[in-house]
Amino acid sequence: MKLLLQLGKLVPNIKSYLIFFIISLLLVGLINIPAPFLFASIIDNALPKHNQSLLVILVSGLLLVELLKNLLNLVNATLLANISEQLIATLRSKMFKHYVDLPFAYFLETPSGKMVNRLATETESVGDFFRKTLWAVPLPFITTIMGTTVMVFWNWKMAIFVLLSMPVTIIATKGLSKRLRNLRHDQRNQQESFQGAVTEAMDNIRVIKGFAREEIFNNELGQEAQKFADFNLHSHFLSSCLRSSTTVIQLAAKYIFIIFGAYLVIHKDITLGDFFAFKFFQEIIEPEINTLFEYFAELPMQTVSIKRAMQILEYNIESGLDKGQTLKHAKGDIKFENINLIYPDGTKALTDINFYIKAGETIAIIGPSGSGKSSIASLLLGIYKPTSGKIWINNYDLSTLELRSLRKHIGIIYQDAELFNRSVRDNLKLANTEASDTEIWQALEMASAMDFVKQLPMGLNSIIGNKGVKLSGGQKQRLTIARTILKNPDVLILDEATSALDSISEKAIQNAMQLISKNKTSIIIAHRLSTISHADKIIVLDKSKIVQIGNHQDLLKQDGLYKKLYSSQMDGFNE
Ligand code: ADP
Ligand code: MG
Repeated sequence: MKLLLQLGKLVPNIKSYLIFFIISLLLVGLINIPAPFLFASIIDNALPKHNQSLLVILVSGLLLVELLKNLLNLVNATLLANISEQLIATLRSKMFKHYVDLPFAYFLETPSGKMVNRLATETESVGDFFRKTLWAVPLPFITTIMGTTVMVFWNWKMAIFVLLSMPVTIIATKGLSKRLRNLRHDQRNQQESFQGAVTEAMDNIRVIKGFAREEIFNNELGQEAQKFADFNLHSHFLSSCLRSSTTVIQLAAKYIFIIFGAYLVIHKDITLGDFFAFKFFQEIIEPEINTLFEYFAELPMQTVSIKRAMQILEYNIESGLDKGQTLKHAKGDIKFENINLIYPDGTKALTDINFYIKAGETIAIIGPSGSGKSSIASLLLGIYKPTSGKIWINNYDLSTLELRSLRKHIGIIYQDAELFNRSVRDNLKLANTEASDTEIWQALEMASAMDFVKQLPMGLNSIIGNKGVKLSGGQKQRLTIARTILKNPDVLILDEATSALDSISEKAIQNAMQLISKNKTSIIIAHRLSTISHADKIIVLDKSKIVQIGNHQDLLKQDGLYKKLYSSQMDGFNE
């Protein structure tokens, strides 16, 4: 009931829908009542008296009842479909909105197939549950109550026999439905694991093909699919058992009713018409009771899906995403003060980090891989929070800032360009939805991407493939730079943005960067020292600590890690 209310709130205009629905349900319930009496009258009045016109009237009455009932049922089914589809749509967009606001750590650990499954399949089940509940509970309930009331007043002994099967069915189905629920849980887990495996394989299709490992993956997926099938088989079997046992119980009850009814007729306690009227009642009520039982037997299974779908909405979103002070710009100084960072898995990534960046400066962070360079960028974007210490930006404590506003003013370019399978234009507009084509071309030119985009078959309209696979590494990276230019952030971070590129692309991109980093605070993370010698300040990291700070000339004079890295990189040229 609580779940139902919670879900109901998600449907726009639910109240007006429900009012119509309830009215129409009550009508169906009322329409059912005269039918058995009409039937009794055929047997007790029309037949013995050979009254043909009465017979025609009575049968027409019965027909009319059926017609109206089915018409109303059609209306109800349409109303319910509307309600549940709206519920599913609202739930899906709500879940997606929630997903994208979850902390980054969640995405590191959850396979995307699993998320898709919750969004697509479990929401479908939630809608199903809502529809089934409204379909399977109120009407059967109303019909059963109304029918029972009329029967009890008419002849309570017969009423007992009509309702005989109910308690027996409840007892018989209880155990089965519990087993079904547990099974459903395992089945859903298996489904997620199957979908996770499929999406992972698709995401890494180049590796699979490159290593000619199709067969291994085929086998693995085959096994996952088989496990999934086993669960489904088991669940079908249990469902069939459930259905068969209720059928048998009800059949038995039916025959007991006939024997008892016949006994009463023989002893003249009731008329033959009464007997058939009750039989008629039984025919009306039984399918309703069946629906009720099936619903309650399946309820535990349905709740598994609902819980799984709602679970997502209960995960905490990134703290401070929409809370805190709004950062209007990030044109001021940046300061890291006694920063320590230990990741949730216990990895010590940054230890006692202190540095100061004056507004407009270009600073470089270098160091061996794993030394903590990217972690500094993550902290600045608020993707992770420092374990201790404070970060200041424009004299604001970063932990008090609204993250969305902070991220508006910081542009970051990673080593692997993250692009969408959309047109060049749409990819760039991600940074600025208002950008005109002229602005887009300007940005492309600054990022030295204009020439190759012009040569694409459809220019700005060219679709660039999943993650941009139709482009070369350098081209992709130039697009991400053009995208950042359109964003025009106050702080620019390059996290090994050119590390994977050939030296010509690297040079072009560096020139572009120098153009756009004017009047901006820039943080360049690199391991090729040639790319950072112009930096105002170079921070040298090693094993999570800062080991040196200074400009290129100063650092070369010192006998430290910088000099060592520099000479090892120059080695190749001196030989
Ligand atoms: P760099 O960019 O200098 O190569 P990182 O800042 O990415 O180094 O990583 C620093 C250390 O933190 C490494 O030991 C890395 O394995 C670890 N690390 C990075 N990201 C995470 C994460 N999300 N969860 C746990 N450990 C991480
Ligand atoms: Mg890194």
